[in-house]
Amino acid sequence: MSCVHKNVAKWHLFHTEANLFRRVRTVKDPESSHRPIEEDEDEDEENAQYPPEGNILRQMLTYIFEHKKIPTVLPPDKLRPDKYPEQLFPSELFCMECPAGTPLSEAVLITSKAKILTVTNVIEGISTYRRNCHRCGMIYRYQEWTDGVHNFDDHILISHHLSLYLRNSLQTHQAVGSAIEVLQETSGKQFPSKQRMLQAYLSFEALTEHTYNYSCVSCDHHPSTVIMDLHKKGVFNMPVSSIEDPPPEFQGRVSATTFWDMVSLEMLSRGLVPSNRSNPFVVPPSFHNWAPWVGPHTRASDDILNTEYCKVMPAHPPTGGEFNITEDRLIDELLKLKTSGIDHRGSRMDLVLRLQKEMKSRATYDKVFSKIWGASGGWAVVTCPCGIIYGVKFNLRAESPRDFTDILMSMAHLPNVCLYDFARGLASHANGRQPLTFSPNEGRLLPSTEENVKGALEGRARVSLPWLLTKKAVPDKDGHPVTGSSEHYALYDRFHESNTKDPRDSLRKVELVPELRGWVNSQCAEQLFSGMRKKQPLPQHDVSLDPCLFNEEYTSHI
Ligand SMILES: [Zn+2]
Ligand SMILES: [Zn+2]
Ligand SMILES: [Zn+2]
Repeated sequence: MSCVHKNVAKWHLFHTEANLFRRVRTVKDPESSHRPIEEDEDEDEENAQYPPEGNILRQMLTYIFEHKKIPTVLPPDKLRPDKYPEQLFPSELFCMECPAGTPLSEAVLITSKAKILTVTNVIEGISTYRRNCHRCGMIYRYQEWTDGVHNFDDHILISHHLSLYLRNSLQTHQAVGSAIEVLQETSGKQFPSKQRMLQAYLSFEALTEHTYNYSCVSCDHHPSTVIMDLHKKGVFNMPVSSIEDPPPEFQGRVSATTFWDMVSLEMLSRGLVPSNRSNPFVVPPSFHNWAPWVGPHTRASDDILNTEYCKVMPAHPPTGGEFNITEDRLIDELLKLKTSGIDHRGSRMDLVLRLQKEMKSRATYDKVFSKIWGASGGWAVVTCPCGIIYGVKFNLRAESPRDFTDILMSMAHLPNVCLYDFARGLASHANGRQPLTFSPNEGRLLPSTEENVKGALEGRARVSLPWLLTKKAVPDKDGHPVTGSSEHYALYDRFHESNTKDPRDSLRKVELVPELRGWVNSQCAEQLFSGMRKKQPLPQHDVSLDPCLFNEEYTSHI
């Protein structure tokens, strides 16, 4: 008791909250009551900073992350227990980091005003406790899953049932905010702020053990056909200067496990770092530590490609393909634009033409682009035809075929058919990085002879790819495991076909393939994409990857 202010505060608290000072002796373990209690122990316990900072904070977070995982499938009685405990003690009685048998302190009350949030209720007056190790300084708090609750920050505990409710809300594209509003209205109780609720829920997700077995029933871990699309909901404003340059030795590969563990630790840390303190666990967007997500069974190795820095590094000038796609995309956007910050003089088409002229330089382009989309480039999403997500890349800069190529080249088996709205750019970029990635015919369905182009333009040409339906009896060398074929095509989905100017692009029309026509015929692929996504739940383990969610997440602290 060194500080006057602390003394005054305690004196005041003693009058208003006497139970805060009640010492709780635990009786669960007979051994703990045998150990001698030293005289100066009280001082230590009360003075140990909580929540901790620095090394102890890191030690605590790492311990929780490694040892307190919540199982993927929760038994029903843990999901909605009849009763929740009112006193929540850490389960540890001995320090897990020190030599065996190093006892922890007695339980110290953190608060007696914690709340357990459930789908129907807010249970108040819950007490949470911690125990300290005198030897190493480690602090243990209540972090069990077996009582049906997840301890977020010792003050807010969220029932597993509520976490699953929020997960399902997000998976059906309902914002956490509105889900909470519904709960509030129904229960008549006040819930914490939307932001805090989201953080509490994400910390539950960060601790949840993931099976990583999720994949599409029909496509398994290695889809033979994929659709690539840009999800623009994830776009936010990020000044160019806020992203540091990668170290010179960076080769464009990021360890997926390390990166995603860091993201999980950040989510957990929100429960131990007060919001007014700077959080050392925040993962700042950077070119060298920013991994796309590709499922563990789908990716070739833990090292995933992210070569986005090539878009901005002067040493790596963008290829023609890279420039064109974004330009095409931009024009497309402009034509659809209803209102914008850009001065509307003359018709929309005039504006597009004017911009096209002005966009000769990358710099002007970037400027215009960031005005329209914000500085980041949205989410590059790779799905199978059924709408299941196999790869996601959160672009820090304007999208280009590079982003999709990063995902494709991180996969163990390159899909046979890639549908994209700038197929030509994808094929030329990918083949520029690794010759013959898309082949035969540079990923076109037929050699680009005059006759073939004519046939395709007139709608006469047909290219059957029977192995999409039935695996080749004699698989090609290095053939795809599902189809047995080693052919790789970059094709246009129907919707964006009109965007192409090169007549040879007609040899990339998905309609030429009878096996693929069935599901792209009636609707445009983009509609199909969004429709499917609504029906198909996101992979269970990567709910935090939902663009809407991540958007909320990252706008909150950037
Ligand atoms: Zn210890
Ligand atoms: Zn599928
Ligand atoms: Zn979404």
